[in-house]
Amino acid sequence: MKNKIKPWLLQAKEYDFTDIKEGIRLHLNESPFRPPEVVIEKASRAMLNCNRYQNPELLERFRELVAEYNKVDKDMVYASPGADGSLRSIFYNFLSPSSTIVINNPSYSMYKVYSSTVGLKLKEIQLKPIGEWWVEDNEALVNASREAEITVIDNPNNPTGSPVLTKDIVKEIAETTKGLVLVDEAYFEFYGKSVIDLISDYPNLMVVRTLSKAFSMASFRVGYTIADKEIVKALMKSSTPFDIALPSLVAGITAMENRGYVKGIVEEIKRNRETMLLGLRRLGLKVYNSVTNFLLVDSDKDIWNELWRHGIAIRKLGEHYRISIGTREEVEMLLNVLGDFL
Ligand code: PMP
Repeated sequence: MKNKIKPWLLQAKEYDFTDIKEGIRLHLNESPFRPPEVVIEKASRAMLNCNRYQNPELLERFRELVAEYNKVDKDMVYASPGADGSLRSIFYNFLSPSSTIVINNPSYSMYKVYSSTVGLKLKEIQLKPIGEWWVEDNEALVNASREAEITVIDNPNNPTGSPVLTKDIVKEIAETTKGLVLVDEAYFEFYGKSVIDLISDYPNLMVVRTLSKAFSMASFRVGYTIADKEIVKALMKSSTPFDIALPSLVAGITAMENRGYVKGIVEEIKRNRETMLLGLRRLGLKVYNSVTNFLLVDSDKDIWNELWRHGIAIRKLGEHYRISIGTREEVEMLLNVLGDFL
């Protein structure tokens, strides 16, 4: 059987994550809040039609709302099951085993996973910690991108929480590369800066977004890509109007129609982020600044195990720890556990 599977797929990394059934989930950059009741109600009601395929007009409605939210034309919106759905579509449709991909190290872990499943050649540009931020090596990035089929940068960056790209650098990469440029703005709502407005001048630029973070809908699996309409058309050819499940699509539409709620969530997360950042620094930990809903922390003590023992899950990444921002109570609980431990 194995000889029927492409060799690079046999070697590809498997998804690894900490399973947690009960306790405090600060390991996956989720929102600790639910979206408004109306989102859940409408999605639940949609389930009564689960025996039917949805009306394709629903997808068009979602694309229309996303277009309005981002001030672009509807034909520049590709809707997908999560941002990951967009990433997979882009990787599987536009790249092939001989293609080169440029990413940052560190960056969102799935870029490497999808690269390995397509068999791409990987070039990593190292981010450097300077003071309280992680910083891009602009020159190395621009140079490496030149001959790459795709350059994928998460901005802000996961797991550091730093913004790593300026608009000028994105312009320079898009201008000088022979390939595509994908800016992953999964954490846009916390950061507030986007490069979507550059797409009209740079048709090789794509922006990926998600409703999993600030919109607080991780398990509905709704995301999208904003790109030149020819790219969107090509992506839509390899998908169907049913790729996003009906309840999720209805939830996505309702969330977009009621998107004012996101502001409150972002404000609360930022407040809690400040509390956690100051609290952790007071305990003597090295904590990097962040424009996202998580913090990167350095510690020479095993804080992962200690927190896990108390039912709090965080993410261990080499010698760093990534901690999502939870509710005020969750942040206080985490600070208390670490206060006793350190
Ligand atoms: N991009 C980045 C940078 C992420 O951090 C994540 C999720 N942690 C995703 C994409 C995937 O998001 P989604 O849930 O929409 O698939």
